[in-house]
Order: sequence, then C-alpha cells, then structure tokens
Amino acid sequence: MSDSPNQQSHRVGLIGFCSDENSSFLRGPAQAPPLIREALYSDASNFWSESGIDLGREEVFFEAGDVTTDAPKEIDDAVNALLAQRLRPLALGGDHSITYPIVKAVARAHPGLSILHFDAHPDLYDDFRGNPHSHASPFARIMEAKLAQRLVQVGIRTMNGHQREQAERFGVEVVEMKDLKDGLALQFDTPVYVSVDIDALDPAFAPGVSHREPGGLTTRQVIEIIQSINAPVIGADIVEFNPKMDPSGMTAVVCAKILKELAAKMVER
Ligand code: MN
Ligand code: MN
Repeated sequence: MSDSPNQQSHRVGLIGFCSDENSSFLRGPAQAPPLIREALYSDASNFWSESGIDLGREEVFFEAGDVTTDAPKEIDDAVNALLAQRLRPLALGGDHSITYPIVKAVARAHPGLSILHFDAHPDLYDDFRGNPHSHASPFARIMEAKLAQRLVQVGIRTMNGHQREQAERFGVEVVEMKDLKDGLALQFDTPVYVSVDIDALDPAFAPGVSHREPGGLTTRQVIEIIQSINAPVIGADIVEFNPKMDPSGMTAVVCAKILKELAAKMVER
C-alpha cells in the first residue's frame, strides 16, 4: 500500500543539540544525542512503533545531525531550517535550556500551540542562581514570551513556593505526581509540542539524569500519555539524559523507545 501524494504523512527532522552549559548541577547531557541514536538504530529492537507505524521507511526521518552550540539564536535557526523544509522537528538534548529557542522557532510556524511537558521539575524559575537561561527556567521564558496558549506539566514532584507562584502567574496546568491517576487522557484543541525531560521518569527506569528524583513516572505511563494525545504533535524534544549517570546504558534505550512513540505521533495525519 503506497501513499498518494496528498496522503503523505508528515516527516520528522531529527536533530541533536550537544550542549549542557546551562546545567546547574552536573555536566553530561551534551554527550547524549549520539548515544540515543545508537540505541535507536540498534539491532536489539526494530523500527515499528507500538501503534503499527514502520518508522524505518526512508521517508520518515530526515537526519539533521548534531549541533554543538548553546547559543539560543543558533538553536532557533537550526530548528527554523527544518521547519522551512516542512519537517516536524524532534530534538535530542542537551539540557532543558534548549527548549526555549526551539519552541520560539516552532511557535512562529504554529502560533497558539500547546505544550505537554514531562518533568520532575516545573522549570519555571525566574532565574536560577543568576542565570535566566538556566535549564531550570525555560518554561518561565516561554510563558513570558506568550509562545504557548497552554502549558500542561506532568510528573512534577519538586514544587517549591517560588515555582508555585510562577505556575499560578502563567496559568500553568500542573499534574503533580502525587495527584496523577492512571488513564490520564489530556484533551488538546491546538497542535501540541511535547517536551520530555527524561528525569520525569522514576530513576528506577531512567537513572541516567543529572537530578535523580524518586517517585516518578514509569516508562509505560509516559508512553500511554503520549499515545493518548488527541491533537497533531508538531514538534518534540527529549532532554536531560546524562550518559555519565547511566552505567547500564538503560536510559539511552528508554530515550530511543520514547523517541519512536513520539515520532509515530508526529507522522500521523
Ligand atoms: Mn527535570
Ligand atoms: Mn527540565
């Protein structure tokens, strides 16, 4: 069965951002993108999504390689170049600071988008230790710039007073880990950008992160929530995988699994 031209599915632009300059505690995420790709292309698994999409077909991924910069303008430009080729960007971090310039570029192409953000941390600090571009602050910058109509955060378990105030100020919809019920089905009425900070998962599933925070999501919960998204997924990132904290190599495999399920949603018509 072949697609006629007007039934072609969307293509994914896979791009790595090897930067961790804005990390507040440990370095390491700059080394992540090649390891996620290695796990993705490993013969240990196949290229089909659980939903039945063969992601190994040549037309699915455009491989844009890795960019070694933490300059917001260069990140924005790199994503913009993918969007100009009608690709849906799927970015591999890098620390979470890359999400602000990425969303800036995606929001120009899709104004009024919604964001689904998986994380142990709300990343809403006005600045963190004097750095407004810290990996603890990208969603404060995104909401100040009004780049998203909605921000829905899932997996949060490190709320403090300042960030709770910021969440209220920006109208963030926070699904804290303590309140999460099975079968969470989020309804979106605009295109969705998905940002996956891999520390949203419990460190039992994904130990390779700079800030291990117990009591998190299972791999299956993250996959189920991604699969349940009811709107077009027009861009995504997987960030904060720190290979230095991943002696077993398991976290790279988890990143690759989540990558496949995200890509499957992104190519959907
Ligand atoms: Mn985090
Ligand atoms: Mn984060």
